[in-house]
Amino acid sequence: MTARFNKRTIQKALKSFNIIKFLKKEKIDYKDHAGGEIRICCPQCEDTKFHLYYNYKPNHHGRGLFICHKCNFTGNIIHLVSEIKGTSFPETLKIIAGRLTRRSVSEAKMTLESRSPSHVSKELSDIKSIHLPPNFKLLTHNIPYLRNRRITLVDIKKYGIGICTKGFYRDRIILPEYMGGKLVFWQARSILSEKEWRRKYGYSEEKDFKKVLNPKGSNSRSILGGYDKAQKYDLVVICEGFFDMMRVGKRAICLNGKKMSFEQFIILADMNPSRIAIMLDSNAKKEARDTYDLLKDFIETAIVHLPKDDPDSFKRPELRQFILDAFKKKIPKKALIHRSLKSSYYNK
Ligand SMILES: [Zn+2]
Repeated sequence: MTARFNKRTIQKALKSFNIIKFLKKEKIDYKDHAGGEIRICCPQCEDTKFHLYYNYKPNHHGRGLFICHKCNFTGNIIHLVSEIKGTSFPETLKIIAGRLTRRSVSEAKMTLESRSPSHVSKELSDIKSIHLPPNFKLLTHNIPYLRNRRITLVDIKKYGIGICTKGFYRDRIILPEYMGGKLVFWQARSILSEKEWRRKYGYSEEKDFKKVLNPKGSNSRSILGGYDKAQKYDLVVICEGFFDMMRVGKRAICLNGKKMSFEQFIILADMNPSRIAIMLDSNAKKEARDTYDLLKDFIETAIVHLPKDDPDSFKRPELRQFILDAFKKKIPKKALIHRSLKSSYYNK
């Protein structure tokens, strides 16, 4: 976890997490020190001599952080639990947030509801902005690579898609991702297949052909693609990739992957939409379920089950219908009351 998405909701969950109980349950040996520190054998380096130190006492300096003095493995409780259990970020959060009391969930909700725009912009201002690749040019016409993906010139302009025709990123389209007006990430996708690339350039320069290149030092998992467009909407749709996001439209965000990272969860919670539709590829049912479990206590959430492939395989109106259907599946409380009144009436 980076401190820049420092959200009270998650901090609360982290604070209420009882490491001793957890270790006992997992049958992990530990040494407890009065100074607010416990020691365990590091799960990362086959340590047998309790080299991992974890600070857990309230108000203790460095609270919530651990370090292994053998292999330098360091992080917070999420990293530690994740390493011990072998779970992903969302799964780990579930383990930790699962210990939230009913009261702290409602407190967390209130925290989310009372967030102010200035608070959000403060968090956004901490995200590092990057530059477009050299020789980047905005596309002013459509190209076969995009046209074959049913992407129109209108969409190309809307999402600021560009191309590099020379330099290191030549023959690649650039898909930029902005947050708060700042460029925070981009993908450079080859418009040539490896075969076509080799025919054109041989083996001289790029030994390992990569379909997608990302800016050095960037982390696609700590940002949400489509943030600037989607934050205006009450209903936000979570997708995997950039093209899926474009297919769904302006209310879509993309994870740049199947699993929602901790940072992405914080940003999404901060966007605070009133409804979230999870629309991952049809082969990501488990990841969709994990994300759903994570969000459902905070925001009305539904999983969109696509009949095949991914959002990019459908037309926008079809996707809209899938989303509506996903929310309809859950019976609203009002309807339930209505039905029970009716049935008691008939039973008389
Ligand atoms: Zn270690």
